[in-house]
Amino acid sequence: MPTIFTHAIVPLAIAAAAGRGVISPKVAILGAAFAVIPDGDVIGFKLGIEYADSWGHRGATHSLAFAAICAGIATMFWREARSVSAFVFLTLAMASHGLLDTLTSGGLGAALWWPFSEARIFAPVTPVRVSPIGMGFFSMRGVETLVSELKWIWLPCAAVAFAGWGARRAARSRL
Ligand SMILES: [Zn+2]
Repeated sequence: MPTIFTHAIVPLAIAAAAGRGVISPKVAILGAAFAVIPDGDVIGFKLGIEYADSWGHRGATHSLAFAAICAGIATMFWREARSVSAFVFLTLAMASHGLLDTLTSGGLGAALWWPFSEARIFAPVTPVRVSPIGMGFFSMRGVETLVSELKWIWLPCAAVAFAGWGARRAARSRL
C-alpha cells in the first residue's frame, strides 16, 4: 500500500477541486476515512485469512463494488451525505484506494472486480513503491516510498485541487 496519508489525500484533493458547495467539509473528511478503511483487511492476517483469499489483504475491501456499497450505506444513513454528488464522491474516495494499490510495485494486486472476479489486478505501470510495514517506515526504503508517492500521487493531487479551484474562480469572475 501507499502510506495512509497518501490514500487520504486523494479524496481531499477531489473535494478541494469540487468546492465546498458540492462536497461539504464533513463529507470530505468521511471520504478521507473511506480511503483508508480498505487496509483494515490486514486484520485478516491475524485471523488466519490468507493474503490471496477473497477477504485477504487487497481482496474484497479493495473492490469497486465494496466502495459503492459503503458509499450507499453512508448516503442512506447520514443526512449530510444524502446527495448524488456525495454518493459518487464517497464511492470514488474508497475506490481510489484499490486503484492506487494497483500502481504499487509489490505484494498481490487488488481485487477490483470482486465479487465478479477474484483476479488480483495491477495497473500496466507500477511506479509507486510499496510502503514498508511498521518500523521499516523509518528507513531508507521508507524515504524512497515517500519520494515516489510525492511524485506520483501528491503532485497530481495538488494539480487536480488547484485546477478545480482555478476553474471555479474563473467561472465566478465571468458572472
Ligand atoms: Zn490497500
